[in-house]
Amino acid sequence: MREHKPLSDIAEKVEAGLRLSAEEGLRLFDSEDLHEIGRLADVVRRRKNGRATWYVVNRHINYTNYCVLRCRFCSFCRPYGQGAVDGYELSVEEVIERAVAATGGGATELHIVGGLHPRLPLSYYTEMVSGIRRACPDVHIKAFTAIEIVHLSRMARPRLTVTKVLERLVEAGLDSLPGGGAEIFDQRVHAETFKRKVGEVGWFQVHRTAHEMGVPSTATMLFGHVETRAERVGHLLKLRAHQDASLSARRAHFQALVPLPFIPGGSGLSHLPGPSGLESLKTLAIARLLLDNVGHIKAFWPMLSPKLAQVSLSFGVDDLDGTVGQYDVTHRDGAPAERQALTVERLRRLIRETGRIPLQRDSLYRVLSTG
Ligand code: SF4
Repeated sequence: MREHKPLSDIAEKVEAGLRLSAEEGLRLFDSEDLHEIGRLADVVRRRKNGRATWYVVNRHINYTNYCVLRCRFCSFCRPYGQGAVDGYELSVEEVIERAVAATGGGATELHIVGGLHPRLPLSYYTEMVSGIRRACPDVHIKAFTAIEIVHLSRMARPRLTVTKVLERLVEAGLDSLPGGGAEIFDQRVHAETFKRKVGEVGWFQVHRTAHEMGVPSTATMLFGHVETRAERVGHLLKLRAHQDASLSARRAHFQALVPLPFIPGGSGLSHLPGPSGLESLKTLAIARLLLDNVGHIKAFWPMLSPKLAQVSLSFGVDDLDGTVGQYDVTHRDGAPAERQALTVERLRRLIRETGRIPLQRDSLYRVLSTG
């Protein structure tokens, strides 16, 4: 059994602004001193963001739940053409209608992702983006995970490279990429839970290409399923190395990390309990401590719950995501999609109750509104 040393040497490094090692990351995970881990993460959070806590007025649009894959942790996907009663795909016009309604309600960002549809051509995606751009010239379009980008490159006729797909989407009006699909960068976890999906090489290739083109993105980590804590540390350090390279030699980088707690209900891993609230807080805090080169750690409240997301503001988190509107991909404790929305007033109150300052941001962390 590993010896549990106290954290004073790690605390000294954090307070001096020094980078932590994999071994130190693992010691933090093995420690039961959650308060000290939270305090240290708060030191880093305050150094980077002061008392500011960010939120965005956004709207998620999930254009289809049909998917050619069956990742074991996924409760969202439906098989195409097999009569799934709750399978759906939105037309380009329906997506644009939702975008117009969202921006009419004040949204500055659209977050658009879906399953890997077996039939939709590349033109569906480029017309969706260009149609939104025409109808809502100022909105920030954050769309398509790395997995979807690779899927589009394979679906294009003739097949296109990832670079070409990204160029077409950027030309149509795409602004940035969301970080989904990263899961856990580890071969064992990949083989066990999402074998047929693009793994870490493909995920990083898409984000590297985007960053070289000047397209910013976010990163994610899906935790609390079959991975070990050491595999979580490995995942975070791979993101840190990529960010080092993007910051030094590429035109864009990761804007934020979004650690996502696994929600077992309805998935092929529904026998697992999912991470506890304490484990989620510890993971968010350690992410803040290890990723010294990423500006923001975001709590995605639809998966954490608004109350746990609020507590996470004392565990290194400085961003509560946003109003969201509707989120179909995971439903916490069976929460219906239409309930996965928070008003600006509620977001601000959640932040103010912790003594922090709520700041409405745009998608590049520029202040749009204070108070
Ligand atoms: S996680 Fe994504 S790629 Fe995997 S089955 Fe679900 S929708 Fe498809």
